[in-house]
Amino acid sequence: MKTTYPTEISVGKILDPKKAVKSLNLSSRDHYISKPILIENFLLLTTQSRTAALFYIDNEKQHKEAAKTAKDLGLGFKIKTATRLHPFIDGFAVKLDRAFTFSDDKKIDEIENLHPTLDPEYINLRLDVLSQFSPIFHKKVSSILEYDSCCVSTFTRDMYSMVNPDERIFRQVALYREKNREVNPDSFYVREFIPCKPNCENAAAKGRKFENDLRNQIDDAVADVYRGIKLDHLKDVELGKIFKKCDSATRRYGMISGFDVF
Ligand SMILES: [Zn+2]
Repeated sequence: MKTTYPTEISVGKILDPKKAVKSLNLSSRDHYISKPILIENFLLLTTQSRTAALFYIDNEKQHKEAAKTAKDLGLGFKIKTATRLHPFIDGFAVKLDRAFTFSDDKKIDEIENLHPTLDPEYINLRLDVLSQFSPIFHKKVSSILEYDSCCVSTFTRDMYSMVNPDERIFRQVALYREKNREVNPDSFYVREFIPCKPNCENAAAKGRKFENDLRNQIDDAVADVYRGIKLDHLKDVELGKIFKKCDSATRRYGMISGFDVF
């Protein structure tokens, strides 16, 4: 029999950050969700650094743990299932559970209004598998996640110009290194976020604030794991890990003519 897990939990009494980290028991509990994901998407909400977060759920064990964790911490939780072309998986379309956590009930309305699958504009862009979602969808998600407008505009412009944003930031970082310009890990403050430039100050201010909040409201160990998320993200960008994967997938899709996933 198929078990179903909660897709929607509303905000309760949000746990104090010190109690929240204790409840997560990061060091000894077996987690189906990794420690960095728990910190980025749950603890940064209990410190009130973020009002909403987004991550992907791969299986039912993660789903169950995410829903329970959100409930224990007093956070809201909402699953939106989206269908998209997945460049990393052979096959045309996969369903992805995108899990939102939020600390403000007003956010649930915004999340509710997101189109659950690809929106019609995407159909026109479907050959550009790198875009994955339409710029309009991306803008909505960015507003829920409170990304800065400079970074969102640049990302949207990339998508309309059929530029792969992951490749754009990879090239920018390489150029900044070559010219000895500052590349700031704080600007790469959550995973998969692509700043408008390698030293975007708006993004970096968030990266610094999040780290300080964790340090002041919880402890150094948790703040250091968060620092590691930023450094790892920048390293992945510098190595071109993300866009190179996409690139090989594009070539593979490019050999298939007339495919239709709808
Ligand atoms: Zn920016």
